[in-house]
Amino acid sequence: MAQVGRILFLPGDGIGAEVMTEVRRVIGWLARRGIEFAVEEDLVGGAAYDVHGVPLTDATMAKANEIGTVMFGAVGGPKYDDLPFALKPERGLLRLRKEMDLFANLRPAIVFPALAGASSLKPELVEGLDVMILRELTGGVYFGEPRGITELADGQKRAVDTQVYTTSEIERVARVGFELARKRRNKVHSVEKANVMHTGVLWRQTVQALRDRDYPDVELEHMYADNCAMQLVRRPKQFDVIVTDNLFGDLLSDCAAMLTGSLGMLPSASLGAADANGRRKAMYEPVHGSAPDIAGQGIANPIACLMSFAMLLRYSFDLGAEADRLEKAISNVLDQGYRTADIAQDGCTRVSTSG
Ligand code: ATP
Ligand code: MG
Repeated sequence: MAQVGRILFLPGDGIGAEVMTEVRRVIGWLARRGIEFAVEEDLVGGAAYDVHGVPLTDATMAKANEIGTVMFGAVGGPKYDDLPFALKPERGLLRLRKEMDLFANLRPAIVFPALAGASSLKPELVEGLDVMILRELTGGVYFGEPRGITELADGQKRAVDTQVYTTSEIERVARVGFELARKRRNKVHSVEKANVMHTGVLWRQTVQALRDRDYPDVELEHMYADNCAMQLVRRPKQFDVIVTDNLFGDLLSDCAAMLTGSLGMLPSASLGAADANGRRKAMYEPVHGSAPDIAGQGIANPIACLMSFAMLLRYSFDLGAEADRLEKAISNVLDQGYRTADIAQDGCTRVSTSG
């Protein structure tokens, strides 16, 4: 049997580990169809702290970089709340993102036909919705210098954060956006606030120049971030791919998330730069956390994690047909009326994920 590639599994804590069990079952199904992955598994977050005293060991970090494709569950839990900052479970996740240089964060908001009624908007506004929010993840105001809080002579304090972007940082994430759009509906909205921010001006110029040079076939529209937030809740189906910076991407992806119903439905992918063979380091994870309130009960919704795995098939291994098949299977199960509690509406069947 041909082996298509290697994946590092980092299930983590709480329901992270539970939903990853369901991905194992899909991997078993693929293997029976002749598509075999070599899966290695390691510890991250609280699970790593319990054994090694750190949320991510250097050895695990090195393994993630070497294998290059990570399937991540979730980390954290009340047991670890009082740990010093550097040992908190979340530091493990942030270290992975930073050291793998995963600058492009993809968050699709997809509404399955059976769940259009679970959205915060009217069903007709979201039925069939499929928007891809692409957030720059390693730059901008989250990292820009100078930053910090200083004491002033008069006893007041002064806080500074700095938004910084270079042409190459903008260009590499925009390029991912254009490539995605080509495989989707061929439309990119580039989102910033060029009316009040210099980074917005450079963002707009850079994205436009890249499009004119390398992607003349892709439709590009510029939009201010405030307008984009409004349009997302007014007429979300106008969007295909939205490319935006770290901070606006954080806000807009949460906004889009609410259109789909539950945190338990939202997948994500974080991609790094392509190497000489066109391969990218990547990490795939559900957007939700470890959900301590429901952990250990077998009631977590596995869809976000399964959809993240569909993204892995599509973006890391070019297995688009298998990704489509997995998404279709999820859609079919929902059509048949099966629901976990987080997406159950009156009159729906409730089943546990482990059932
Ligand atoms: P983090 O800080 O790690 O993002 P959080 O506290 O913000 O965690 P989650 O752990 O994602 O949030 O949980 C938020 C709420 O959503 C909880 O009540 C949880 O039970 C629910 N929830 C999250 N994911 C799922 C899921 N996959 N299935 C069912 N319910 C979920
Ligand atoms: Mg959260």
